[in-house]
Amino acid sequence: MHLWELAAEERQALLDFVRALVRTSSFSGHEGAVAALIMAEMRRLGFDAVWMDDAGNVIGRVGPQTGPTLMFNSHMDTVKVTDPAAWRVDPFGAEIQEGRLYGLGACDMKSGLAATVYAAALLKKRGVLLEGPVLVACVGLEEPSEGTCTRVLFEEDHLHPDWVVIAEPSNLQVVRGQRGHVEMTLSVKGRSAHSSAPELGRNAIYTAAHLVFNLEILSGQLADDAFLGPGILAVTEIRSHGVSRNAVPDLCEMTLDRRLTVGETEARALLEVQRIVTREGADAEVKVIEEEVTTHTGKTYRVRRASLPWAFEERHPLVKAMLRAAQTVGLRPTLTRWHFATEGVYTAAVAQVPTVGFGPGNPALPHTINEYVEVEQIHAAAQTYAALALQLLGKK
Ligand SMILES: [Zn+2]
Repeated sequence: MHLWELAAEERQALLDFVRALVRTSSFSGHEGAVAALIMAEMRRLGFDAVWMDDAGNVIGRVGPQTGPTLMFNSHMDTVKVTDPAAWRVDPFGAEIQEGRLYGLGACDMKSGLAATVYAAALLKKRGVLLEGPVLVACVGLEEPSEGTCTRVLFEEDHLHPDWVVIAEPSNLQVVRGQRGHVEMTLSVKGRSAHSSAPELGRNAIYTAAHLVFNLEILSGQLADDAFLGPGILAVTEIRSHGVSRNAVPDLCEMTLDRRLTVGETEARALLEVQRIVTREGADAEVKVIEEEVTTHTGKTYRVRRASLPWAFEERHPLVKAMLRAAQTVGLRPTLTRWHFATEGVYTAAVAQVPTVGFGPGNPALPHTINEYVEVEQIHAAAQTYAALALQLLGKK
């Protein structure tokens, strides 16, 4: 038997753990119960250290305290169930049908999280000697504010991994990059007047309409990248304000969702919109959305809704190591990118630590009804994580 191989009873225990996680609700900002469950499981499995930081992140360590460090990174939170009646299974039932485990967070990403816990436990149980620590980090608030709680791991907890694996769903493919994003508000000002004499005012909706038209043209002219694809701009919300139904509105606000590809920055994204405003002679202000988020432990962080794109080369040592680990356990991984944001926006784009993504579950299923994961993929992921740790940190 290989060192990375899960025995039948370990496969069952891992599956039981995923089901327990799915049955325990963990909406963003309310991850406390799931955090307790994860800590209890890490302790039961014999981790060398298990702790929770002030932001409510759970961290488990297997191996020595110092040395080259591999971090597995997962988020504990899920989105809310928007329409329970639309589900044909109980979102918290963790039912298994035809080899698929159903439930909220089954795919995004309680199965990936559980697989990293069991991979680290496997190294401990098999008595593998490690050159440095394997950290299993489980963060909160990823859904509303990706990167925020992982920033805490680095900047407040002073964890400094040499490699990061994000265990979000990738269908067991190796992810080497993702686009960045910026959420902006564009506030267009007008001048109020009674709508029976509109010539006395300046209608903010009319000005906004000109800007929207130009934004649509801009969206077709953004930078493109062979791997990450084109930059994207979409107007996603619009609302106006007037003193009454019979008044020319003096304010029209819209939200812009901008995805950044290689070479694009937050500053450039803002400037492009500003240029349209100037060209149209509009009285309008564009800015990046800032908001406050609160962890399940009550800590509040002010966050900017902006992140940079990141991509590591095909020949990057971590990308190659991740591919090799997957091949070791009998998978046939290809290289891909994620379309959604992950904690990689901090580890890769800000901290610039080599980062790859790899996880069980179809990346098209997060935030959909009847979310599921193939049970077989959970086991394959755990074995791949263990094989990667052996490759990077196992003492020869
Ligand atoms: Zn996720």
